[in-house]
Amino acid sequence: MITDKNNLETNQPLLLKNAFYYTESGFKLGHILALEGKIAAVYPEAELPQLSTDVLVYDVTGKYVLPGAIDTHVHVREPGWPEREDFFTGTAAALAGGITTICQMPNTQPTPHDLPSLELTRQAAKPKILCDTAVYAAAGYDNRDQLAVLAQTGICGFKTFLQFSEQHITEPQYITVQNREELRELLAASAATGLRHFFHCEDFILINRLEQAAHRAGAEDYSFHYKTRPDATELNAVQQVLHAARKTGAKVGIAHVSTVAAAAAIRRAKADGLDVTCEVCFHHLFFDDSWLDKFGPLAKCNPPLRSAANVAGLWPYLLDGTVDYIGSDHAPHLPAAKQAGREQIWLAPSGIAHIELLLPLLLQAVNEHKLTLEILTELCCVNGYKQMGLYPQKGCLAVGADADFTVVDLAKEWTVNSAAMQTKARANATLFDGLKIQGAVEAAIVRGRLLYAAGKVDYQSAGYGQLLHCHQK
Ligand SMILES: [Zn+2]
Repeated sequence: MITDKNNLETNQPLLLKNAFYYTESGFKLGHILALEGKIAAVYPEAELPQLSTDVLVYDVTGKYVLPGAIDTHVHVREPGWPEREDFFTGTAAALAGGITTICQMPNTQPTPHDLPSLELTRQAAKPKILCDTAVYAAAGYDNRDQLAVLAQTGICGFKTFLQFSEQHITEPQYITVQNREELRELLAASAATGLRHFFHCEDFILINRLEQAAHRAGAEDYSFHYKTRPDATELNAVQQVLHAARKTGAKVGIAHVSTVAAAAAIRRAKADGLDVTCEVCFHHLFFDDSWLDKFGPLAKCNPPLRSAANVAGLWPYLLDGTVDYIGSDHAPHLPAAKQAGREQIWLAPSGIAHIELLLPLLLQAVNEHKLTLEILTELCCVNGYKQMGLYPQKGCLAVGADADFTVVDLAKEWTVNSAAMQTKARANATLFDGLKIQGAVEAAIVRGRLLYAAGKVDYQSAGYGQLLHCHQK
């Protein structure tokens, strides 16, 4: 439907006809009218309205209509490295994956660590974004005095890496801490703002020690990457953050939890009343370390792909409320950089560019009865907005909310072809080629505009996406 018939240029009203749409009390059949970016009316099935001819009618019979999905963990490489992924291609890829809001991670160049550098991220995004975008600010020991002012700008939270050996971290002083004392001081500063503080949790001291030992032992095949980052490296770091959160009263969030041990620790902390959120990224739910053995640099990410026992063991935590939401950790790199790790895996940058597969793989999991479509919707389309302070403007199919929709087809079978992906890093996604998936994204609609449908992105809508002001407190 992305043709001359789309409603972009005219901002035409849109009616989703015969929509089987999500509500907190289950899916309902009806018709949803979007007008001037908002949901203007929701009609019961039997009350299809008489509409003027200028309304674009999109018949979604047989499909499911979800609140537009949010990806809480996206690395668009601007500012700094637009050749890896810029805001145009990054948000086009998001839409093709049915994502209508992305949360942009701050490990860019410059690192958004104060008002001027944060403004550079916004300026880079503004003319290019197709979907709506919220941004994280970076928090490190050296910019702890900036957190109070950054907290007033509508960011979705702070992000800190508990490891700084990564090549893509260019200003570590603004996005890492060196030790427990710095961590506690930094968290005291974020606690005073009331915003949530998100952490990449890996114990870099232990990792460095294990890497050196592996090099000495000549254990340098592709398993080097996950063998030098065992489960304990995540658990140690998570426990450091939870401990510092208890001491400071900070609200924390653990990004991309990849092990059962860490998920269990977070479950216990939640039960004890700690205000901590838990994100899981979808590759840790579907791909185990055998993918790293097979595909080396293309399957290299941090935390690494884990044992099959961890992959299977994370699923119960999706169902019991431990996991708050699912992100992608879409992390594009230049193909040449990935290729450099073919012989020496430690040379490859970490990250997989696969945002377009997040919802399809989870839809397939619904077909396999690993979770319900209701739980998928909460994890991908509702809870992230609540945590980022964007609900009920988004994440809610009710009159007055933003008319963001993700339309999905649970029955459709298709085969992944990386060449057809929107991401600039599609050459790094060949590991997924040939993967057969039952469950597809049919359309993505942002504030009433149909920006993705029938496999096509409306490229003319660059700049239509809005920078979101989060009211997280
Ligand atoms: Zn990440």
